[in-house]
Amino acid sequence: MAYLDSAATSQKPQAVLDAVLAYLTTGNANAARGTYPWANRTTTRIEQARDRLRRFLDDPAPQRSGVHFVSGTTEGLRAVARDWLAPQLRDGDEVIVPFADHAANNAPWLEVAELLRRQGASIGVRAMPYDAAHDYDVGRLAAMINDRTRLIAATHVHHVYGNDMNVHRLRVAAGPTVPICLDAAQGVGHLPLSTATTDVDFVVFSGHKAMALPGTGAIWARNQRGPAYATTGWNGSPNTSGIISLVAALDWLDAAGLDRVARWNTALGARLTDGLRMLSNIEVLGCQSSLAADAPTQQRQGIVAFRHRDIGSNDLGFILAAHGLLVRADGHCQGDQGEKTASVRVSMHVYNTVAEVDRLLSVLGELDHD
Ligand code: PLP
Repeated sequence: MAYLDSAATSQKPQAVLDAVLAYLTTGNANAARGTYPWANRTTTRIEQARDRLRRFLDDPAPQRSGVHFVSGTTEGLRAVARDWLAPQLRDGDEVIVPFADHAANNAPWLEVAELLRRQGASIGVRAMPYDAAHDYDVGRLAAMINDRTRLIAATHVHHVYGNDMNVHRLRVAAGPTVPICLDAAQGVGHLPLSTATTDVDFVVFSGHKAMALPGTGAIWARNQRGPAYATTGWNGSPNTSGIISLVAALDWLDAAGLDRVARWNTALGARLTDGLRMLSNIEVLGCQSSLAADAPTQQRQGIVAFRHRDIGSNDLGFILAAHGLLVRADGHCQGDQGEKTASVRVSMHVYNTVAEVDRLLSVLGELDHD
């Protein structure tokens, strides 16, 4: 089997499994409750996990930022919208939402606008502008910013087109005061992300897409624009073994080197894109080339989505699975401005190989000749 669905969730390195097994068999206890040694140790490990994530994200002001563990990006973005944005919003305020990105980065902002509407306040939900290459159109974005803009929601790497959304360019467009919330579900664990050089206010991601266990993720909050992020209400028991798996995953990724990880995934993505373009019945979505390294916009990562002109994408998903090629075939939870018909998405990570890409191309090539 070739697992080609890492954008949905990653496989887990042995080091991550070992760390979880060791914790669960030698010191499993709840955090922030008991006072006996196992409980204290768990509490300390959760605190240390926050610092580990700050280091992983190259946090320039770790004494000020906040780290909150969640089950994944969807829960994290919803928490930012509900706990941080909603209490600040007033009638006439505006938010900018990327409607061609993942629905998880649309729904929370729409829900908050609806909540405010029921309270009698009208919130302008404005659509993030894109250019022809599915990157953000920073020129048009800059023209949309005004003194009522309260948040820009953006995405690090697109989950269907696979392109790096060049979010380092957003701050110039946004100006110094508008907060930016980044959905980094397909970025964290795939390519370096420095919060010292990329001036966003929130980084939200899914640990389970970055080598950690299911049910893991985090919100990193810079806490410099607007109030410091704090969750509302009582928080129950944390996902202790999940958070421990996340620390092991970050250690593993740093040891592997995120530059190397990104180079590998980008190379696989380029090989697949270029191979698919040779097949007359295949239409690649998004950028048609694998973008040169010196292009003004950055390269496609290890995600490539495509359609066959004659075979429906769902059928193609089953055909590929019968050949041991595990891809995703559907609409990929894209927002309202997304693709209207299903596609096949191949998403790769460090455990995927050139041979797997070539095997996929050869199976598709045979279909091309039928
Ligand atoms: N945002 C993007 C860009 C994604 O690719 C995903 C993945 O499904 C999500 C958000 C939602 O992540 P999760 O299902 O872990 O909440």
